[in-house]
Amino acid sequence: MTRIDGKNGAGEETLIKKDTVIIKLDRDDPDPEKIAYCAEVIKRGGLVCFPTETVYGLGASAFDPEAVKNIFKAKGRPSDNPLIVHIDDLDKLSLVMSGDGRQAERLELLAERYWPGPLTMIAGRDPAVPDAVSCGLPTVGIRMPDNLIARELIRVSGVPIAAPSANLSGKPSPSTAGHVIQDLFGRVDVIIDGGDCSVGVESTVLDITGDVPAILRPGAVTLENVIEVLGKGELPDWKKASKEGEKPRSPGMKYTHYSPDAEVRIYDGGDIGDVRKKIAEEGVKALKAGVKTGVLTTKEGTHAYEGRGLTVISCGTREDLLTVTHGLYGALRDFDAEGVELVLAEAFPQTGVGNAVMNRLYRAAGGCVIDVDKREA
Ligand code: AMP
Ligand code: MG
Repeated sequence: MTRIDGKNGAGEETLIKKDTVIIKLDRDDPDPEKIAYCAEVIKRGGLVCFPTETVYGLGASAFDPEAVKNIFKAKGRPSDNPLIVHIDDLDKLSLVMSGDGRQAERLELLAERYWPGPLTMIAGRDPAVPDAVSCGLPTVGIRMPDNLIARELIRVSGVPIAAPSANLSGKPSPSTAGHVIQDLFGRVDVIIDGGDCSVGVESTVLDITGDVPAILRPGAVTLENVIEVLGKGELPDWKKASKEGEKPRSPGMKYTHYSPDAEVRIYDGGDIGDVRKKIAEEGVKALKAGVKTGVLTTKEGTHAYEGRGLTVISCGTREDLLTVTHGLYGALRDFDAEGVELVLAEAFPQTGVGNAVMNRLYRAAGGCVIDVDKREA
């Protein structure tokens, strides 16, 4: 029951299926019969969206090249952006990884501490993993998710599951089943509704193949965490990696990801009070010019924008940036749902998990950061 429904921005055909099944599962006690049904879909080469602790994934058997190609079609993903392979148990590692001893040692040390969890490791790819998964790279991204539904699905399927985030390419990643339904209903076989994702932004992507392990995408597992376990690590400047013309180490980082329909501008500066003042001023100006304007803040900031006609959304608390990763994508989608055209966002400190937040915001804003400390000439 499939039909081809036009082409995406990259000129590739988009696959549409009409008969998506939505299955509700308890994340602490998933019904084995329903898991068996979903696993059967995976085994037969189908597409299943499933929850993880980071964001929802759009999964297919990592060993089925046709099914993997259908992932790219279903979400309109550029064909040079590799997928992460998900495993449920370390015994599946040897099926997908063929790294050297140093990689194996690093992976073991980090896995002991952070798996299951929001850490993807880039290691040598076993030839059994089809080219389609890694887009021809000699490496593969591997992760063990900390979500029982996800791990049961992989276990019962009996194969590693390749899965990018379950959103249309370019849209904010889905942190609820509702987001997945918005983007992919009619394009996949099954959408599992397993509740909210606790972390809410994608995993840390760590390349363990080089001399110094390098974070290619910041996430909830931080540079400090990596250095603590391995004794070294680096976080190359992801702003630079996303500029045109450079060959990024992580192909996904060159795309303007995570964008809501609204234009996003980030306001940064030393003092959060000054940032809020500037956003309030600029917000009122934009409203006067007839632009429906929103403000992305935290619970500490909402009072600064009250009574002005701005659409104010809090995405968590500055006291715990994991609440911000949890709420960020939902907030961006809520602005779109409210018909907001311009979002003025408060910046976050670029330390620890703040790097993950700022990386996603920066991409949502297409790199538009306004420094409120700089006086106009
Ligand atoms: P997503 O699955 O949508 O969360 O995106 C996966 C991210 O991991 C993208 O930024 C990819 O470019 C990156 N990634 C996956 N596999 C590799 C790999 N073998 N080498 C470098 N980056 C990778
Ligand atoms: Mg993604």
